[in-house]
Amino acid sequence: MKILVTGGAGFIGSAVIRLAVGRGHSVVNLDALTYASCLDNLASVADKPGYSFEHADIRDRDALNRIFAEHKPDVIMHLAAESHVDRSIDGPGEFVETNIIGTFNMLEAARKYWIENEKPAGFRFHHISTDEVYGSLPPDPEVQFTEDTPYDPRSPYSASKASSDHLVRAWAETYGLPVLVTNCSNNYGPYHFPEKLIPVVILNALHRKQLPIYGDGSNVRDWLFVEDHADALLSVVKKGEVGRTYNIGGENECSNLTLVKTICAILDEKRPREDGASYADLITFVADRPGHDARYAIDPTRIRTELGWRPSVTVEEGLERTVQWYLDNEDWWRPLMQRKGVGQRLGTGR
Ligand code: NAD
Repeated sequence: MKILVTGGAGFIGSAVIRLAVGRGHSVVNLDALTYASCLDNLASVADKPGYSFEHADIRDRDALNRIFAEHKPDVIMHLAAESHVDRSIDGPGEFVETNIIGTFNMLEAARKYWIENEKPAGFRFHHISTDEVYGSLPPDPEVQFTEDTPYDPRSPYSASKASSDHLVRAWAETYGLPVLVTNCSNNYGPYHFPEKLIPVVILNALHRKQLPIYGDGSNVRDWLFVEDHADALLSVVKKGEVGRTYNIGGENECSNLTLVKTICAILDEKRPREDGASYADLITFVADRPGHDARYAIDPTRIRTELGWRPSVTVEEGLERTVQWYLDNEDWWRPLMQRKGVGQRLGTGR
């Protein structure tokens, strides 16, 4: 299968590409190489014959038309996006342009290519989205997001993703484009850009800096190991029913405070502090993110029953592997710390 992956130099896209190439698929990686990208994520596949890279922006329709015509992909996996909620609070414009207009361009380029090639039966446009489109849940563990939960996005990021999801479904209804949509929970794992919570905590701890927790740390997230997510996405694009949405969760609900304490305990074990103290001493509660959703949780029934997919690791196992990866890969994260905004508090709404 020849897969066109957008955003393949990012965190999740690169995990998808490493897995897809490892399974013998051909992959074209289309990426604009924004501040959040890192081509080093693909070092292990960059020289493989099935891999190629196109430096292009999804806001550039002509470039998309050329790439579709030249590479003739069997399926599209669309991950390119602005992805950081805090940055969306400070500068929502780029989120509207890339996540909404960019997705519109991708849909139009895909539709043109699909029609010009006489609507090949196996063609799929797989749109990768977030569970944040569903809004915020109460603490009741019985209540989880299903594929039928009404949309209620709260941040500029989630509103832009919700908007792109609607466009994708409209292109299926209106033009018959064979689409698939997945909405996943918070990913974590190797190659996670050092502005997101888990790498921030690991790297701040190693530098003996404060470990910032928004609000009182009671916000609950479901944590999905990125390599599990990549596996789920390849299952969906291969076996998913056209037009259907699949929620993808890690079956690992955890409050932010518990998560940070777990990371501290792993570091205490793997890299004990010289003064004998626990890294948990560095935990500091900071002003909450404006509009911070209280809880996200995914009902995994559909993907489990229809596609037979379940996550392979618990959050404790995944965090253990993630912490070890950051300890072993300083050469990867050190240069990224210099990028604009990394290491700073963003998205305070001021
Ligand atoms: P990321 O920020 O790590 O990577 C995004 C990639 O997209 C980067 O390589 C960037 O260069 C590229 N990109 C951005 N704007 C572009 C443009 N205009 N044209 C072409 N390329 C562009 O993001 P991620 O965490 O890997 O997320 C990937 C997708 O998964 C996104 O669509 C995101 O909304 C979704 N998602 C992520 C999570 C998560 O926990 N990370 C959770 C749910 C959904």
